[in-house]
Amino acid sequence: MNQEKILNVLETAYQKGKAVAPYGNVATYIPELGKADKNNLGISIFTVGGQKYNVGDTDRRFTIQSISKIISLVLALEHLGFDKVFSKVGMEPSGEAFNSLVELDLNSNKPFNPMINSGALTVSSLLLPEFSFEEMTEYARKVCLDSEIEMNEAVFQSEMSNVSRNRAIAYLLESKGIIENDVEKSLELYTKMCSLNVTAESLANFGMILAADGINPANGERLISAQAVKIAKTIMLTCGMYDGSGEFAVYVGIPTKSGVGGGLLSVADYKMGIGVYGPSLDEKGNCIAGRPVLEYLSKELGLHIFDRKRI
Ligand code: GLN
Repeated sequence: MNQEKILNVLETAYQKGKAVAPYGNVATYIPELGKADKNNLGISIFTVGGQKYNVGDTDRRFTIQSISKIISLVLALEHLGFDKVFSKVGMEPSGEAFNSLVELDLNSNKPFNPMINSGALTVSSLLLPEFSFEEMTEYARKVCLDSEIEMNEAVFQSEMSNVSRNRAIAYLLESKGIIENDVEKSLELYTKMCSLNVTAESLANFGMILAADGINPANGERLISAQAVKIAKTIMLTCGMYDGSGEFAVYVGIPTKSGVGGGLLSVADYKMGIGVYGPSLDEKGNCIAGRPVLEYLSKELGLHIFDRKRI
């Protein structure tokens, strides 16, 4: 892989992201997230061959938010198995906002997929009897190769004080027999996982491990089973950007998961992990810089999942 080419492409991608950041907004429904600077942007590319490229605010800590849904999903798949997880949650894109409960209430007996809030609350309820929050944090540190991941107490408290909608979803899930464990504790575990502090670099590490089928390419250690990784990447491609997933898959074609803290976790299979931090969001709650940044990287580096070009 030509290092100079990647550096040049990364720099241009960064400029493209910077140019759109002023047109989005930071999330304010969790008041603490409203304190972020919408002009921050960081992009990290970590290849499976061991090359690392960073531009901008790549070591700034921010909360992982919905990207934690991938961590919880792979943990649940490994420890509870495919059948148990997918007996409670579906695998279809919803076409609805991430915090919608309309379809769930009217037309469905399980959440559409594990990436929307109803699905992730369900996965958290399944994990509740199996793991403590401390054990799940330790797992997050392992798969992100980042021993400094901690819960951001201020963001956690801020979300818990404004959690009515997720609480409503969780009780709706209980009323349908989908959540069978303690509703309040499931909600708390989910919200704590969303409040873990990461960096663009931690996300690039996680993406690199997913790109390498669950193995840390630096030392050959398997951190996640190949089967769980395969499912996670598929769900990222189809559901990772909520109701923007289809368009993102066409234009970018890199399995990606977003979080309202401004993070993006992207996996260019067998090539690299890409972590982005940009708290300015588009109207669907995805990092607004993500689209131009990742579309450019995809085009220039041949990263689209169906692109035959090789770098
Ligand atoms: N904690 C956030 C919520 O439940 C996560 C949402 C997101 O990142 N899209 O609303």
